[in-house]
Amino acid sequence: MAASNRLTGAEVLLEASAVEAFASTLRGELIRPGDPTYDEHRRVWNGSIDRHPALIARCAGVADVIEAVRFARSHGLLVAVRSGGHSYPGLSVCDGGIVIDLGLMKGVRVDPEAATVRAQAGLVLGDLDRECQAFGLAVPAGFISHTGMAGLTLGGGIGFFMRKYGLTIDNLLSVDLITAEGEFVKASENENADLFWGVRGGGGNFGIVTEFEFRLNPLGPQVVSGAVFWPAEEAPKVLRFYRDWIADSPDELTTDVLQRKAPAAPGVPPDLVGKPVIAVACCYAGSVEEGEKVLRPIKEFSSPVLDLCMPRPYLTHQSMFDASFPHGWWYYFRSCDVAELNDDIIDIMAEFGSQIASPITSVGIWQMGGAVARIGEDETAFNGRTAGHNFNIGGNTDTAAGFDEEREWARSYWSALSPYHTSVYVNFLMDEGEERIRQAYGAKKYDRLKTLKRKYDPDNFFRLNQNIPPA
Ligand SMILES: Cc1cc2nc3c(=O)[nH]c(=O)nc-3n(C[C@H](O)[C@H](O)[C@H](O)COP(=O)(O)OP(=O)(O)OC[C@H]3O[C@@H](n4cnc5c(N)ncnc54)[C@H](O)[C@@H]3O)c2cc1C
Repeated sequence: MAASNRLTGAEVLLEASAVEAFASTLRGELIRPGDPTYDEHRRVWNGSIDRHPALIARCAGVADVIEAVRFARSHGLLVAVRSGGHSYPGLSVCDGGIVIDLGLMKGVRVDPEAATVRAQAGLVLGDLDRECQAFGLAVPAGFISHTGMAGLTLGGGIGFFMRKYGLTIDNLLSVDLITAEGEFVKASENENADLFWGVRGGGGNFGIVTEFEFRLNPLGPQVVSGAVFWPAEEAPKVLRFYRDWIADSPDELTTDVLQRKAPAAPGVPPDLVGKPVIAVACCYAGSVEEGEKVLRPIKEFSSPVLDLCMPRPYLTHQSMFDASFPHGWWYYFRSCDVAELNDDIIDIMAEFGSQIASPITSVGIWQMGGAVARIGEDETAFNGRTAGHNFNIGGNTDTAAGFDEEREWARSYWSALSPYHTSVYVNFLMDEGEERIRQAYGAKKYDRLKTLKRKYDPDNFFRLNQNIPPA
């Protein structure tokens, strides 16, 4: 079997007997081109990515991960690590090489008394939420339930509960990790503390995390949440009101401004579907009574065309936006942080919002701050804690048709904001090159991460990620 190594151009010849021997050691399964499920397992969330690995090792446990790392290392294979497969640029699948797929590793154990959870890397956010909610508890994470917990956590983890409970990494207590040498190590504040600093934002650069331990927080079972919509033409006045309204909002409130065409979704009247809208998606992580009081001003501002903001179960909230980001569509993103929504930025938002062509293109602008900003920039590898807002500009189509135009629109929108860029969230990067990764961490932290990379992965064995080359 020939496995071309995309990054170095080398071609590796694998003896069939060696591959067979490797397959026989796995408790999970080894998938090869031509196997009936090969296409299913090489596909990732972003339909614009179409790569063909030589091998996919679907690991059933830590022993399989160790075996896969050692096999890849001894044969000089390019390695992609996959948990949820939601990397925007598809960094969890390679051409040639081996995908180490953790998707089968879905063990999870909540300790309600200690308010902690141990969670294996193959869980998606919905799996984790479901187990934790059985005890009225939650880890703050992202807003689409099929996103992989592992990749999201390793980049930082922003979402609707971050202003109250911090980033996902701010609730991380420890990880189990397999190094580039195939060794098992643990990392926490008390053990390999340098590594623990690095995995809280540094992505998959230092090894394969097989298990995460999180602190849990009380949440739900009901939250007040959902989006309030206005016609896109009203964006300038809605955004100015929104800016003032959130200026002194409590930590319990996190909002995400949405720009898109109204989707054909439950509760959206047929005559609104397809019309450009601006919406404020809200979630209140406190009592329903308080939430209703805090949200009243935005719900009553300037006669919204649609108000879907109401009390609902936390678990319903956490999957409410899933239908807008299914697997297989073509997605392109540009992202940046800004300090504030000044008048110029609001004008840019209004201009580009009115130009949206694709019915599934969508922009989310997260309100940052609260608990995220109360942790020091140097305490974790994540960067941009003092950002005011995070832009995630998605140019999306359901097939290749029209994708180039949407991508161009997303780039132009992002470029128009460039005078105001502060930082960028590493998990919202495409494959944008080293300078952008440096910007994501800031020069000082990037250098510290490079030094850490030299210690844990001096050969850059784990390089199919937002890569930090060893110093
Ligand atoms: C629909 C959608 C919604 C999203 N919403 C949010 C959101 O609300 N908040 C937010 O913060 N982010 C969000 N993101 C971004 C998300 O955090 C990243 O795409 C993240 O990388 C997804 O993790 P994954 O495990 O699914 O990805 P994968 O594609 O499996 O992996 C992503 C990267 O992490 C590495 N990696 C994966 N697992 C491991 C592991 N166990 N050990 C070491 N390295 C590993 C991979 O090698 C790859 O480089 C969203 C993404 C999508 C597609």
